[in-house]
Amino acid sequence: MGDGSVDPRRRVPRTDTLLADPQLVAATATLGREQVKAVVTRAQERARRGEINPDEVRDAAVAALPTPGPRVVLNATGVVLHTNLGRAPLSPAAVAAVVAAAGHTDVELDLVTGRRARRGRGALDALAAAVPDAGAVHVVNNGAAALVLAATVLAAGREIVVSRGELVEIGDGFRLPDLLESTGARLREVGTTNRTTLADYAAALGPQTGFVLKVHPSNFRVTGFTSATGVRQLATLGVPVVADIGSGLLSADPLLPDEPDAASTLRAGATLVTASGDKLLGGPQAGLLLGDAELVDRLRRHPLARALRVDKLTLAALAATLHQPDTPTRSALHADPGALHRRVERLRDRLGADGRKAEVVPAVAVVGGGGAPGVELDSWALSLPERYAASLRTGDQPVLGRVVRGRLLLDLRCVPADADDAVLAAVLRVPGDD
Ligand SMILES: *Cc1c(COP(=O)(O)O)cnc(C)c1O
Repeated sequence: MGDGSVDPRRRVPRTDTLLADPQLVAATATLGREQVKAVVTRAQERARRGEINPDEVRDAAVAALPTPGPRVVLNATGVVLHTNLGRAPLSPAAVAAVVAAAGHTDVELDLVTGRRARRGRGALDALAAAVPDAGAVHVVNNGAAALVLAATVLAAGREIVVSRGELVEIGDGFRLPDLLESTGARLREVGTTNRTTLADYAAALGPQTGFVLKVHPSNFRVTGFTSATGVRQLATLGVPVVADIGSGLLSADPLLPDEPDAASTLRAGATLVTASGDKLLGGPQAGLLLGDAELVDRLRRHPLARALRVDKLTLAALAATLHQPDTPTRSALHADPGALHRRVERLRDRLGADGRKAEVVPAVAVVGGGGAPGVELDSWALSLPERYAASLRTGDQPVLGRVVRGRLLLDLRCVPADADDAVLAAVLRVPGDD
């Protein structure tokens, strides 16, 4: 390290020279120029402080580049389940379980007998215990996989009877009808966009019917002259009823009265319920299948099930989430607006002490694509000039807010309280001249 014989200030490589280095240019493609420049600046500063030699600056910058892969983002959007941010964040218990499961585990072994055991039985037992109305349960890779498996086993080469009002697009061009037809099943659409009666379903049934599908429209609402037929009525038709509830709520939540839950849907007579693990359940990406024991056994034994099976990390996270359902998703949903207000005020005051003008404004948070369309959660946000948006997104600790009418709103509802300091530091790193 620095031998003190030269004035390091004169020999520290220039920023544009460093940014032309092939490895740093390559990093710019994934991290963005601003992020790479910040890394370079820090390496230059280390040289100026004499911590490293000027000719080590390039290597120090390369070594300090963040590892490739997803970056940690603070979700200040006020969208609890943001698909672009990976939906539900795992609870500390689930994270610990994932870390523990990263090595060798007994995922498919009974340590008492020394024999092979049912894969992921801890998670499956926890799911069964959480929903006693289910005769049996199974877990696959995601909600879409759960539907594909059900459609393949019950309706390949046959018909799925479904309301025209429930042929939904989940997002990013993912359309449920296309997914279902990819299994070789035919869709038998009944009713209209806004109204479908039990008689519509009944008239469509025949020898070709594989099952009746009930899909919860989890990301939109149809209001006005509408009528839908519930699972309880569909269960009287004498064919299997598969209910895709989407959100993964296992039992009813008074905060979300219109959101179907697995237990109630099974009690209403659904043969099978499918749902996602990383929406309102607040767990890892997974597809849950709950219902009739004989049917779940057929699903589990179908060759396709092997292609859809979840890895040990998912099983570990799911088991922990089910044992300890106090997830960050739940905390964000049930956060007290008064407490959020105090946190935002505190941030505003601390920014004010640094000469930054920010305002405290009321905000409306939402559940997001993961469920409960139309539910509005009273929240509070820090309001900053819009120009902060890009800098906060691309800074050392990315913070994602929401731009509304020329202002950047940072809603703290989905930011863990212990991350307020990180939000503050990120805002202070944005050059301030407002
Ligand atoms: C989210 C959702 C899906 C897809 O689930 P993934 O876990 O994203 O595959 C399917 N159906 C409904 C109703 C949903 O809300």
